[in-house]
Amino acid sequence: MSAFDVVVIGAGPTGLACAIELKRRDVRTLVIDKGCLTNSLYNYPTHMTFFTTPELLEIGDIPMTSLNEKPTRTEALKYYRRVAEHYKLDIHQYELVESIEGEDGAFQVKTPQAVYSAKKVIISTGYYDVPNMLNVPGEDLPKVIHYYKEPHPYYDHEVMVVGAKNSAAIAALELFWTGAGVTLVHRGPEIHKHVKYWIKPNIENRIKAGEIKAYFNSTVLAIRPKSVLLATPDGDIEVRNDFVLAMIGYSPDMTFLNATGITLDPVSQKPRTNPDTLESERKGIYLAGVIVAGMHTNEIFIENGRFHGAQIATAIAKELGK
Ligand SMILES: Cc1cc2nc3c(=O)[nH]c(=O)nc-3n(C[C@H](O)[C@H](O)[C@H](O)COP(=O)(O)OP(=O)(O)OC[C@H]3O[C@@H](n4cnc5c(N)ncnc54)[C@H](O)[C@@H]3O)c2cc1C
Repeated sequence: MSAFDVVVIGAGPTGLACAIELKRRDVRTLVIDKGCLTNSLYNYPTHMTFFTTPELLEIGDIPMTSLNEKPTRTEALKYYRRVAEHYKLDIHQYELVESIEGEDGAFQVKTPQAVYSAKKVIISTGYYDVPNMLNVPGEDLPKVIHYYKEPHPYYDHEVMVVGAKNSAAIAALELFWTGAGVTLVHRGPEIHKHVKYWIKPNIENRIKAGEIKAYFNSTVLAIRPKSVLLATPDGDIEVRNDFVLAMIGYSPDMTFLNATGITLDPVSQKPRTNPDTLESERKGIYLAGVIVAGMHTNEIFIENGRFHGAQIATAIAKELGK
């Protein structure tokens, strides 16, 4: 069994920030990710641009540059690869952590490939693995997509975008520009007020001009192979449809946290942590990044989650006498 001081679960920006800060304090650390490096960012829409300026995405004091004011996904992936390489982080990709057994000072972190022993464990598993569901009949049809990548495959098809936040608005616009017929459906009365100021007027004008058809105060009742049944303020209607993009958000994997014995707040699902150290109620296990926000995934971003690295590393180094 390989032995480490700390195992970090999740090689997202926060997991990497933790590993860097631990390395700086001479703490022997392994990072494990079930996918590739920064797997969530890799799975974001192919041509996405971050809404954050580059310096706020930086970790480990490595400067991030961008050709434009805001970096693209491709630039961010390149940046985090460079950071991992610079700090020579020990990262095992494509290993799913299935369980954490044992106790403070002697944990066993289990993946299908190996069992690692660790004195401390940091969980930074993000929130992009469990898509929120519409919970309607037909949602299991192959035409229903929860992860939008790019518009090309939908050219000359009827696409329904469900949701009215940033991801939905951006997908609807890209699809429209690429020659898809776009229908937007949202249970609320308008495009969400938090949609970025450079996107909101654009989508609203396309709707006003009738270029994108929108149904507000409406919900999806059922998805059928060639149509979608909607409940609208004017009654139920059936809309011709080829693809449904359910852009209604994602949630952290609470099953994993629960199985790990982490106590969650019953309402917000926020893991109970010591605010100074981010140690959970299961001694020796720390929480980092957006997972700390529970279901309030809009409270922690890369911008602020990256600081969890130094916070946790300071606490762990002290405990380990480093
Ligand atoms: C489209 C989009 C645009 C965004 N734009 C911005 C932006 O401009 N600025 C900003 O600050 N934030 C932005 N965010 C939010 C930001 O990406 C997240 O807040 C951030 O990635 C959280 O970092 P993290 O390290 O906590 O989690 P993640 O980056 O989600 O990393 C978690 C990692 O854990 C791994 N993992 C999960 N479970 C396991 C397991 N059991 N075993 C092993 N590995 C596991 C995952 O594969 C993943 O790599 C955006 C989000 C989206 C969806």
